Amino acid sequence: MKLAMKTPLVEMDGDEMTRVIWQKIKEILLYPYLDLKTEYYDLGLAHRDETLDAVTEESALATKRLGVAVKCATITPNAQRVEEYGLRQMWKSPNGTIRRILDGTVFRSPILCKGILPYLPAWKEPIVLARHAYGDIYAASDEAMSQGERAYLVVEDGRGREVRRRLLHDFREGAGVAMGMYNCDASIRSFARSCFRYALDRKLPVLFSAKDTIAKTYDGRFKEIFAQVYEQEFAQEMNAAGLWYLYTLIDDAVARIVRSRGGILWACKNYDGDVMSDMVATAYGSLGMMTSVLVSPDPAGVYEYEAAHGTVTRHWYRYRDGEETSTNSVASIFAWTGALKKRGEKDGLADLCAFADRLERATIAVIEAGEMTGDLIPLFHREGISPKKLETVQFLRAVASRLEYASV
Ligand code: NAP
Ligand code: MG
Repeated sequence: MKLAMKTPLVEMDGDEMTRVIWQKIKEILLYPYLDLKTEYYDLGLAHRDETLDAVTEESALATKRLGVAVKCATITPNAQRVEEYGLRQMWKSPNGTIRRILDGTVFRSPILCKGILPYLPAWKEPIVLARHAYGDIYAASDEAMSQGERAYLVVEDGRGREVRRRLLHDFREGAGVAMGMYNCDASIRSFARSCFRYALDRKLPVLFSAKDTIAKTYDGRFKEIFAQVYEQEFAQEMNAAGLWYLYTLIDDAVARIVRSRGGILWACKNYDGDVMSDMVATAYGSLGMMTSVLVSPDPAGVYEYEAAHGTVTRHWYRYRDGEETSTNSVASIFAWTGALKKRGEKDGLADLCAFADRLERATIAVIEAGEMTGDLIPLFHREGISPKKLETVQFLRAVASRLEYASV
């Protein structure tokens, strides 16, 4: 008997190697056990182009409506991709679009396995990275400037009358580039709230970093709002739980994190979070072991689960040319299990949650027993076990047989 679901998940399909893995996860690990119900949106680049990117917005709105989404990695086009795929336009980052609509916070944490030691041996516990998923350079307007042009920051009041104007740069000496970006108090506030709430859930202290010595007004506002939210809404509860909050400059935060033993929630601005999440993921082992969830401040609870890595392009080119690859599917599997668990929680389906838990344990058990994809081989050190490299699909089959034959 297959497990039943009530409400469908929003399923956002994606690109390249992760699109291949996506299909295989469903075939090998989900369809045989589960009457999988999804509302399907194809966010593959070709279909985004066909729909003039409307499909991305539709999938985000569906997530607001249904509450839980699972997303495959997608290409964010650059000039080279526009040519490669013959695109009508250089579409914006789908993740950026979805985050803008859900106004959420992205929490990333590593999947830890016995035998896989972080590159930084001091790290014993997960570092949960919270990325402010709104505004800054992801929603910026940038311009190519020609020699002789001037770029200004102009502010109008509600009636369209100019109230302030500041010269950014006079390009009289030669061409260049200019950019204008923004953020909103409400979004920063809900970011701070989600961080403290999630920290209390996971019993972690909070480190928030920015660069208010340089961007005095811009980053200064972030610092101020975090302090306010903490003092007024969370200090008491955090103290009672023995947890602390610290604001520090981004450079100092990086140093502190490297020296720490983990077990910290690190709240980052949008760009810092983008970059540092890759650094943290790599240091824990492989990008293939990093999960990611976007939590919207919507009181109804809206969640979007995904892997932190991209579409693994280099592996895709090899796969497309008929070669087998050994691509890590763990973060994609955990995107599905995270979404299924949350769906089960919301719909009161204990069986569904239990299945997702079992699938996670089976996945970890396969690795701990010494079978894994190539990215993990050099990281694996467990006495008495010499690791065996599996190809992408072989690994998924190994997980399926654990799920079936072992009591995990
Ligand atoms: P990437 O796809 O994460 O891959 C970077 C490298 O990390 C890979 O070439 C591979 O190294 C290794 N890697 C990542 N995930 C792996 C996995 N599951 N198994 C094994 N190795 C893995 O990042 P990228 O090359 O910068 O970006 C590729 C495309 O993905 C871009 O078009 C980008 O726009 C998109 N992207 C999407 C998202 C998203 O949708 N959330 C996030 C990031 C990037 P080796 O080749 O050395 O094996
Ligand atoms: Mg990144």
